[in-house]
Amino acid sequence: MSRIDNAGGKLFCSRMNNEQIIEWYRQFVMTTYAPSISLVRGRGARVWDADGREYLDFLAGIAVTGVGHCHPAVTKAIRQQAGRLVHVSNLFYNENQPRLAQALVERSGLAGGKCFFCNSGAEANEGLIKLGRLWGHDQGRYEILTMRNSFHGRTLATLTATGQDKVQKGFEPLPAGFAYADFNNLASVRAAVTDKTSAILTEAVQGEGGILAADPDFMLGLRALCDEKNLLLLCDEVQCGMGRTGRWFGYQHYGVQPDAFSLAKGLGNGYPIGAVVAGPKLANLFQPGHHASTFGGTPLACAAALATIETLDAEGCLENAVKMGALFVERLQRLAKKYPFILSVRGKGLMIAMVCDRPCKELEHLLRQQGLLALTTNNFLMRFLPPLNIKAPQVRRAVRMVDAACAAWLAKLAAPPPAG
Ligand SMILES: *Cc1c(COP(=O)(O)O)cnc(C)c1O
Repeated sequence: MSRIDNAGGKLFCSRMNNEQIIEWYRQFVMTTYAPSISLVRGRGARVWDADGREYLDFLAGIAVTGVGHCHPAVTKAIRQQAGRLVHVSNLFYNENQPRLAQALVERSGLAGGKCFFCNSGAEANEGLIKLGRLWGHDQGRYEILTMRNSFHGRTLATLTATGQDKVQKGFEPLPAGFAYADFNNLASVRAAVTDKTSAILTEAVQGEGGILAADPDFMLGLRALCDEKNLLLLCDEVQCGMGRTGRWFGYQHYGVQPDAFSLAKGLGNGYPIGAVVAGPKLANLFQPGHHASTFGGTPLACAAALATIETLDAEGCLENAVKMGALFVERLQRLAKKYPFILSVRGKGLMIAMVCDRPCKELEHLLRQQGLLALTTNNFLMRFLPPLNIKAPQVRRAVRMVDAACAAWLAKLAAPPPAG
């Protein structure tokens, strides 16, 4: 077994191949994930593995690297800021924080809004949950109502907010104060509201739950219900935010404004940063001592996010996501006519899924063999989350690879099972 000998202290100069790196993981890294290749380099929509193989990356770090891997503008901003000031704690001001907060508030449409910065999606959602709790506290209201099949993170509070048994199993007792309703079913939400309910938390487009967009009537209905019952409407924009759906934030497709929303994934193009963006009702609720995060909003993290936003603007990524999303969906729908196991194609912008009539992990492997990275969601869905500055020739190339992988899958499915 190959071991690191740390020759010359060159920890980062790995010359290991995929297999050796996998074995190294087996020994020292917890098996919370099940990857199969080791990636060593990326540029735009392309990545290379430890064996030198090139892939077209249509998952972008799970909707993270929105402007592509190692975008020169983001790399430059990180390099410059890393040489100037990395971290000072929130005991001191750093001007990158209000600069980024203003950029987000202006794009959110939440006039009078303010931001809190943290490091991940789960942490941003914890911030939303705490806002919900604090807001309802004096009236004895604390319950956060979330949707079944949602995904909000893996901390104890956010896995409880997540309406899926599979992420909760084994971690009971779960924190109190959560209730569930059915996504896109307003009657179910209304029925789940009690005199303890403080807030309704939902994704505008469910990501892990299956690339399922909210119906316009549902989002409008949630807003009306919240206004009627004096509840907060909180949106988890961790996956569908930052231009992914062709608008800055998913809720902007509906003409609805949440009272606050969370961001992370695409915010720093891979540099970890999360944010809570709150509208005027909640912008001044947290006071010193209520909430904090040591690493939240460092000069470096904010610099990465600012460069990401500037690049999304400069390269017209929102319009591109709409255009390329339409092209990709249209081409995948043609494949759906050709391959009987593809039931439908759905999505918004560049958040797209192909719905299969059977578990499709095998198709994920076949796509990888073709040189295309995508990922299975909810067993039956093949999910595509390309960078938002993807070009038409790359989309067409991806479609050819999907076509070839589907043909290989069809042949496998048609082949008689091995004898014996
Ligand atoms: C990924 C995701 C999260 C969790 O984000 P982490 O950074 O992994 O904690 C929360 N909500 C949604 C909608 C997500 O897609």
